[in-house]
Amino acid sequence: MLDSVPSATQAQAAPGLFAPLRQASSWLIDLLFPPRCAGCGRVDSEWCPACQRDLQATPYPQHLIAHPPLMAIAATAPHRGVIRESVQALKYNNARRVAVPLGARMAQHLAAQHWTIDMIVPVPLHTVRLAERGYNQSQLLGEQVARDMALPHVPSALHRDRSTHSQVTVSAAERLINVKNAFSAVPDLVNNRTVLLIDDVFTTGATLSACAEALLAAGAGAVYGLTVTAARL
Ligand SMILES: [Zn+2]
Repeated sequence: MLDSVPSATQAQAAPGLFAPLRQASSWLIDLLFPPRCAGCGRVDSEWCPACQRDLQATPYPQHLIAHPPLMAIAATAPHRGVIRESVQALKYNNARRVAVPLGARMAQHLAAQHWTIDMIVPVPLHTVRLAERGYNQSQLLGEQVARDMALPHVPSALHRDRSTHSQVTVSAAERLINVKNAFSAVPDLVNNRTVLLIDDVFTTGATLSACAEALLAAGAGAVYGLTVTAARL
């Protein structure tokens, strides 16, 4: 759907030097590849006012997802409509700036839960996938939530130990085995801490469970989860 090239990302590639050159190349990239809205595809904006209104009008679910060993998981909306489009664009279409309105929505939903959280940890991508995509969408969301909530964001607390196969095509039962023991956490960073795990979509919850198990094994006191959308709500 989208083929936008975010100029801000290009500009961040070489910080500090050649600012006029970077601005000129950013302008040229915008001219050649005008940004498209991640929600509706409209040209000239990566997130248009109409989609922002739709996002703000999307009601927050009232209930939490029970998913041990996590204390609870909150998702800001069912996985459909404009919010689904924006999550897909963030994940697959390089629409990094959409992490800002989506992360802001997550922070708003988090504030309503009255959870006591010590630190925010995004679900890590395997380094191979990170190299392919160039960024971890959950980390971009985590950064925004942490900023809005004035909480520490600690991606280094949790590592993905081995590559898991693409989860799009496997069944729920296979998925559980697929991610088991795929993660490890750093005891010095998580010991006795209450951790909020951040991911983009809650599907079966297998990935969040595996992350939570790793964090608890490393001494975390409790683990909560927060996602933009959930397949089942
Ligand atoms: Zn739009």
